[in-house]
Amino acid sequence: MSTLSKPPTLVASDLDRTLIYSAAALQLPMPDADAPRLLCVEVYENRPLSYLTETAAGLLDQLSRTTVFVPTTTRTREQYGRIHLPGPAPRFAICANGGHLLVDGVSDRDWAAQVAGRLDDECASLAEVRAHLLSAADPAWLLKERIAEDLFAYLVVDRALLPEGWVKELALWAGSRGWSVSLQGRKIYAVPQPLTKSAAVREVARRTGAELTLAAGDSLLDADMLLAADRAWRPGHGELADTGWSAPHVDALQETGVAAGEEILRRLGLAAAQTLA
Ligand SMILES: [Mg+2]
Repeated sequence: MSTLSKPPTLVASDLDRTLIYSAAALQLPMPDADAPRLLCVEVYENRPLSYLTETAAGLLDQLSRTTVFVPTTTRTREQYGRIHLPGPAPRFAICANGGHLLVDGVSDRDWAAQVAGRLDDECASLAEVRAHLLSAADPAWLLKERIAEDLFAYLVVDRALLPEGWVKELALWAGSRGWSVSLQGRKIYAVPQPLTKSAAVREVARRTGAELTLAAGDSLLDADMLLAADRAWRPGHGELADTGWSAPHVDALQETGVAAGEEILRRLGLAAAQTLA
């Protein structure tokens, strides 16, 4: 009768533009009177920043009570700390694109050391990549340059002024040095290839004994995690949708914007319930 002996289902999901949405990313095409009620889950510099629908909030609450729900984000720990998701606080969370594995809110030192070792061995240094970014970017469209957790770099750019082909050229340069490039909204990320969400998710699966992993994400930095999962979902918007990226076990949803976040949570919940039955 008891389901306690069953291995848990692990649900690893990206946050930004997968589960939570800034005002600019919401996409609310319906008449205002029909728009869904929204819950703000992040405040930044005293202003509301990220939302999900109230229905999505209920679905996420339910999901995090029945599975090992693991927020899996490229955000730094500090940026993640601003988000207050509905439901019980997740036991595990993955930040810095897999560079930090939070266990009850505290970064696991063994994991961070293991990641640092791999980066030293397998790819060009952050200093070299940063120097290239700064010399290649044009102040005309470069708004900010940031280092995240001493692990990777990102630029905030004016997309309207960003020359076509610049990101592609950067990706070629970076690829030959063991780094990946991802364009998400106004941000261009340069991330070491061994720094992956999937590696950290695998570590959580090992620690929890989970045998089934469900995943969701919208960007190139989520692709490895979606591929490594048993089943996965991506929204109808974003870098993966724009490039036509697909895989047999990854469902491409039609929905875009905050409605996609709600639908992803619905699908995750249904798939998780099937495994409990
Ligand atoms: Mg995302």
